[in-house]
Amino acid sequence: LHPEPTDINHLVRSTVALMENQALIKGVELNCLLAESLPPLVVDPEQMRGVFMNLLINALDATEAGGTITVSSRTESRPDRDGRERPGVSVSVLDTGCGIPEEHMGKLFDPFFTTKEVGKGTGLGLSVSYGIVARHGGRIFVNSAPGRGSTFTVWLPLERDDD
Ligand code: ADP
Ligand code: MG
Repeated sequence: LHPEPTDINHLVRSTVALMENQALIKGVELNCLLAESLPPLVVDPEQMRGVFMNLLINALDATEAGGTITVSSRTESRPDRDGRERPGVSVSVLDTGCGIPEEHMGKLFDPFFTTKEVGKGTGLGLSVSYGIVARHGGRIFVNSAPGRGSTFTVWLPLERDDD
């Protein structure tokens, strides 16, 4: 991990910019709804870029033409792994795509779990992302309504005492 003080909005915006063409080609609207100001977080920017990229690619894979992906950020307190409320920052990737069946919810973060055709998915994106976020002391939350869409939220604590 190479953590440095990072402007999460800037990181999100520049990652979204990398996906804008693919969204346009697919006919999916890609929006950012970023907090006006966020405290800088000490994270490994390239690893976190990888996490956001994975979530965006998954959202785009799940969403048909005419659908929407919205990336948002906000300050938010959450209980950490030990149940203590901690201030932090959340970044959500919401899509209006296919959604996730209830029976897949428990397997999403398992290495090699994929519902994509051979060659289209490795099933590693979410498991690797989970590890990266955990090493930052954060968590990933999933909400999904089959047929309506999904929201993946990465929460990162302002301060961490691990690693
Ligand atoms: P991959 O993208 O290579 O399949 P991931 O670990 O990134 O592997 O995702 C695992 C699985 O989780 C996907 O194959 C898909 O079934 C499901 N999934 C992830 N993100 C979404 C999403 N936004 N909408 C619907 N299903 C999703
Ligand atoms: Mg993926």
